Amino acid sequence: MLLGALASAFVMRSELSRLVGAEHVLEAQPGSPYNHDASRRRGVEGRAQAVVLPGSAEEVAAVVRWCYSHDVPIVARGGGTGLTGGAVAMQGGVVCSLERLRRVRELEPSLWRMYPEAGVSTRHVQRLARENGLFFGPDPGASEQSQIGGNVATNAGGPHALKYGVTGAWVTGLEVVLAPGELVDLGGWNRKDVAGYDLKSLLIGSEGTLGVITAVRLRLLPAPEAATALVVFLRTRAEGCAGILDVLAAGIQPSVLEFVDRDTLELLAGSYPGPGGPSGGASPTAPVAGAAAADAQALPAQAGFALIVEVDGTRAQAEAQRRALIEVLGEAAVAIHEPPDTEALWRWRDGFNGVVTAERGGKVSEDVVFPVERLGEGLERFAEIAARHGLRSCAWGHGGDGNVHATVLVDPAREAELDAAQAAGEELFALAISLGGSIAGEHGVGWLKRGRLAAQWDERAVQVHEGIKRAFDPKGLFNPGKKQAR
Ligand SMILES: Cc1cc2nc3c(=O)[nH]c(=O)nc-3n(C[C@H](O)[C@H](O)[C@H](O)COP(=O)(O)OP(=O)(O)OC[C@H]3O[C@@H](n4cnc5c(N)ncnc54)[C@H](O)[C@@H]3O)c2cc1C
Repeated sequence: MLLGALASAFVMRSELSRLVGAEHVLEAQPGSPYNHDASRRRGVEGRAQAVVLPGSAEEVAAVVRWCYSHDVPIVARGGGTGLTGGAVAMQGGVVCSLERLRRVRELEPSLWRMYPEAGVSTRHVQRLARENGLFFGPDPGASEQSQIGGNVATNAGGPHALKYGVTGAWVTGLEVVLAPGELVDLGGWNRKDVAGYDLKSLLIGSEGTLGVITAVRLRLLPAPEAATALVVFLRTRAEGCAGILDVLAAGIQPSVLEFVDRDTLELLAGSYPGPGGPSGGASPTAPVAGAAAADAQALPAQAGFALIVEVDGTRAQAEAQRRALIEVLGEAAVAIHEPPDTEALWRWRDGFNGVVTAERGGKVSEDVVFPVERLGEGLERFAEIAARHGLRSCAWGHGGDGNVHATVLVDPAREAELDAAQAAGEELFALAISLGGSIAGEHGVGWLKRGRLAAQWDERAVQVHEGIKRAFDPKGLFNPGKKQAR
């Protein structure tokens, strides 16, 4: 039996070698990075029979055609930074890595558009836009490794999604390989086009279950002239969440409105870059408490919740919004910091995952959504759920979107803690649904959250979801087992 499997994997690799060249077909040994993504710590491990690295969209189509005619599963892979096991071949088959599709086919700064291939890194897209006076809004945390194709496939968000939308909002067209192996253009450069059903939007967020994206037509924006970040410390979760609603109600449109709860602040206090600046960096107009210049690293003593807020636009707009923010949040705030080194602030924010994980050697972080007006209630009930299961918890996320990274700290060597985390996660999903939120805000469903959509959607909507899968992928070979509704 084992011999048969080895022989068929060998035959598979030699046939695929004829399509893309032998040096671009790899064995997927146990432990190979291609059998993992960023969900590795949660035990997700694939069992691909082969890894293929096509060098062009046409080669991707040839690989899909071969797989489709031989009934072999195809798992598209971007940068492997996904947190739900989406790019991992859980049911065997071929991992199709887009890493060699790294060409930017077109860049038209005067028309605000770029046409990168799927394997171009998110950071490169951002950098290229910036170097040409333009701006690409999506900023998921692992942008150095993640790819634009993976971002589209997961409809990735990030802090700036509040003002600028998730990845899909920046896409006017996609080049994709659809079953049984045809290269197709969905959409184009037109910003308005209602001639047919919006097929490209079905591919956006489809996590490799409907086809393989080979290139992405992106609409960009002129870069904002100025951006200012503030860190606003409040006493309690309730005051912090009320602050978010006050900002929205005041008509301020921050580009970023992140929240950090007390338990996260406690873990991150040591690395907080501080208010900075010769006088503590605090705005002269802001109420400053606990921001002593001599103790620049310290978080304000009474801080029980923090908002990281960025405003942007022309210099005048950014300044007007900054003042408005201070006016709206100033009364409740225990301190408002205005770090001059915003890079240090974002590095601190990007480091949350690592620091929180290090505390006990592991964590289970679930990406859920609570309606923004029920964020405070959702966070409070999540903390109660975790405590009831005997787990230490913390939460942070994209507050303006109600998108929460609800986290429990675990020792990965303790089975009982992992079981408790699993049970707490199930209660959290039920809570998000009961409050009118979602089980998945931006990290996708992949393998780890499969089967839960049916609890969130009406039965008929779930049937349509399943019908779309069948229409695109009648043999069920694109990323089987992922994003399943039930
Ligand atoms: C430290 C860290 C921080 C993160 N922060 C954020 C964040 O702020 N916001 C956010 O949204 N996400 C975040 N993520 C999650 C992750 O980076 C995103 O989901 C990202 O979009 C995945 O891109 P990738 O290229 O790595 O895709 P992969 O992980 O390789 O794949 C993800 C899914 O997309 C599919 N896929 C990949 N490429 C293609 C393609 N070309 N065609 C069809 N399907 C494809 C795969 O099959 C899989 O289902 C974070 C992850 C980490 C590790």
